[in-house]
This record gives sequence, structure tokens and C-alpha cells, in this order.
Amino acid sequence: MVDQYGKRLFVSEQVDVVIIGAGAAGLFCAAQAGQGGRSVVVLDNGKKPGRKILMSGGGRCNFTNMYAEPAAFVSHNPHFCKSALARYTQWDFIELVSRHGIAYHEKTLGQLFCDNSAEDIVNLLLKECDDGNVSLRMRSEILSVERNEGGFLVKLAGAEIQASSLVIASGGLSMPGLGATPFGYKIAEQFGINVLPTRAGLVPFTLHKPLLEVLQALSGIATPVTVTAENGVSFKESILFTHRGLSGPAVLQLSSYWQAGEFIEINLFPELNINDFLNAERESHPNQSLKNTLAKHLPKRLVECLQSLDKVPELTLKQLSSPQQQQLIDALQQWRIQPNGTEGYRTAEVTLGGVDTKALSSKSMESSQVPGLYFIGEVVDVTGWLGGYNFQWAWSSAWACAQALVNQP
Ligand SMILES: Cc1cc2nc3c(=O)[nH]c(=O)nc-3n(C[C@H](O)[C@H](O)[C@H](O)COP(=O)(O)OP(=O)(O)OC[C@H]3O[C@@H](n4cnc5c(N)ncnc54)[C@H](O)[C@@H]3O)c2cc1C
Repeated sequence: MVDQYGKRLFVSEQVDVVIIGAGAAGLFCAAQAGQGGRSVVVLDNGKKPGRKILMSGGGRCNFTNMYAEPAAFVSHNPHFCKSALARYTQWDFIELVSRHGIAYHEKTLGQLFCDNSAEDIVNLLLKECDDGNVSLRMRSEILSVERNEGGFLVKLAGAEIQASSLVIASGGLSMPGLGATPFGYKIAEQFGINVLPTRAGLVPFTLHKPLLEVLQALSGIATPVTVTAENGVSFKESILFTHRGLSGPAVLQLSSYWQAGEFIEINLFPELNINDFLNAERESHPNQSLKNTLAKHLPKRLVECLQSLDKVPELTLKQLSSPQQQQLIDALQQWRIQPNGTEGYRTAEVTLGGVDTKALSSKSMESSQVPGLYFIGEVVDVTGWLGGYNFQWAWSSAWACAQALVNQP
């Protein structure tokens, strides 16, 4: 704010709630708390609210999943997410989407996408915020947060806001290009709240050079597989070979369960009984090459790569002995690869780890050590699978927090 001479005035104000982060969780919490009668200010350092929402789901936002349930979330405490997910479910959010007249469809595996554009979801959130008289302030750089008798004093350039409650909804570290910062973790640390180590999740794997040099020829090729991590967790979806390594839904999902140095196992025939298939093919085409036989079910270039990796012998079906057949089946169904690493936060959809749930109430997301301080959304150590689960966590955790804010005396 400036005076009549253009001099910048210092503004001091008091509100019930300051929310830091105008992403999925922050906007939804603001709307609910505002509609519940609280005065709410949302601060964000970016230009536009909901930047990740706009980018999500290839621009169509996979806003929830019909099968959302606690088992689809990774956390050091798998029980923590249960209460919030049960109190504000995917069906509640679907009802809200329908109430706003937003057309949507199921793509696959319960994943719900907007028919039109992810902008519909941002507009829904902004409309809900409007209905709650929420004051949304973009391009706000937060200089400091202090605790005092009245709650929290948030200092910005040329302004300070006193709030009874402070909600941290600043997200994780993935995609710094979309405004991700470690702000939430720093605030937690400032108040003595434990932050668990973070790492990139839902992220492509990179490969060691020798294997990459062979598999790079497959860049752009996808095939259905089952992939399994060393801890036994597995996903049956497709794998995509890229010029850097491995991606596709199966790999992205598995990356959240993978630790550096571990192997992953790929089953290239997740559905077919390959032994029966080879025997039947041998009966009808004994002189057919193994390569052409396998190419009936796998991309031809993949079979060629498998040959150059010595996983598929250059034989005809009738030349293939029983032990060789077993060896081939093992190679194709238990293809062990040791990723070199992941592409990291630059391309990761989410951040694993974060604010320790042990320090928060699962009912309200409030810190047990610092009353009035709440953490919601991705900044918390709760990470969903690929497929709309992360937004559902944003909605559910935001809703739980908003209820607590509204029901405060
Ligand atoms: C490319 C991409 C696609 C995705 N697609 C999907 C999908 O289809 N379905 C799904 O469920 N999940 C998807 N996700 C994950 C999902 O976007 C996140 O889990 C979700 O946005 C988390 O919501 P949030 O509100 O906690 O954080 P965010 O949405 O990240 O919002 C955090 C906000 O805080 C602001 N902020 C950060 N630091 C500061 C600071 N220092 N000061 C002020 N403000 C700050 C940021 O500008 C941002 O607006 C996708 C993620 C990415 C990166």
C-alpha cells in the first residue's frame, strides 16, 4: 500500500487464520475455514494460485481416485492418514466437483480427470474461497514467522499479519520450477517439530551407462509389466523406456518404495503363461525364431535389446532345450535391474517424507507441541500413489484442519 506521495505504508492487520501456500491444500482449507466464519488470509510467493493443479494430469487434473484408501499412501506412520481420509472422502470431493458443474471421467483404475481442463478445479477452489471471503495474496514473500501471545506474527515486506492460527500448506520439494521451496520444513524446524528425511517420489529411474546405452534404443516404447521392489511391493501397469532410463506408471509408482542401491524386478509377461505359449508355438511353428515368437507379445525392438543383453538366445523354437526355456522364462519374468538413481525433484510428482506425523494430531493436523500451528497437504509425511491420491490427501487433510479452525472457541 502506498500513500498519496507514493511512499510505501506499513500495514499491520489481524486475522483468525493465515495460510501459507495457495496450492490444493491451502486453497481448500481457506475456503472451508472462511465459509465457517473465520477471517482467512492466504499468502503465496508465486504469481498464480494452484500452479501444480494446472500442470497436473497432463492439464486435466486427476483430482481424486475412486479407490482412495489408506493402503495407497506411504508414510512412516501408515495409520495417520486414516482419520482425515475417512472424514472427507473422494465421494465428498466428487460431489463438490459435480456441484460446480465440472464434467469429468474415469480414465483408468478409478482415476478421475476433468473432461475439459485442470483450470476447472482451480476455478472451483477460487470460487469456494470467494464464498468464504478469503483474502488471497500472491507474490507474498514471507520474511519471518514469530510466535507471540496472540498466536503468530507473519512478517512480509511492508506488512505484518497477526493470526490466531497458522496453517502451513507450502507443499514439498518436487518441481522447484513450479514454486516448490523447503519453507514448510524450515518452519517445522524453527518450532522444534521433527522433519523426516525427504526424497523424490513418483519419479523416473535413471540407469547405469552400460544398460542405458542398450535401452536408449527403446526410447518412447511402452509395454505392460509387473514391477517389484526389494520389499515385495509390486505394481502391474506399463513401463516406458526413456532416453534417460525407465518411466511410465509402473515405474513411477515403484519409485516411492525404492531405496538407493536396490534392485527392481520386471516381469515382461504379467498376464500370459509364457511356458504354455512357447510350447504351443513350438507345436505349430517349430522353425520360428525365438525373436519372432516373443515379438508376438513384446515390442520387436525390446526383443532385439533383450537379445543384445543375452537374455534371449538366437535360436529357433525347436532348438530351445527345456533348461534353456526355463532360463528364458526366468530372464523375462524376473529381469533384475539396479537403477542408478532417480531423476530427482526436477521431475518428481511428489516428495516423500516431510513433517513427522508423530508431531501432529491426525484429527486436526495441529502440532501437539505448538498449539495453533497446522501442517496440511504434501509438506506432511503422507504421500499417495499415482492416480489422484495426492490431491485427495490435500483435500482430506485440509478439510480436517479447517474443521478444527472453525470449531475453535
Ligand atoms: C507435474 C505434476 C503433476 C501432478 N499430477 C497430479 C495428479 O494428476 N493427481 C494428483 O493427485 N497429484 C498430482 N500431483 C501431485 C500434487 O500436485 C501435489 O501432491 C499437490 O499439489 C500437493 O498440494 P499442496 O497444496 O500440499 O502443495 P502445492 O500444490 O505444491 O502448493 C504449495 C504452494 O505453496 C507455495 N509456496 C511454496 N513455498 C512458499 C514460500 N516460501 N512462500 C510462500 N508460498 C510458498 C507454492 O507456490 C504453492 O502454490 C502432481 C504433481 C506434479 C508436480
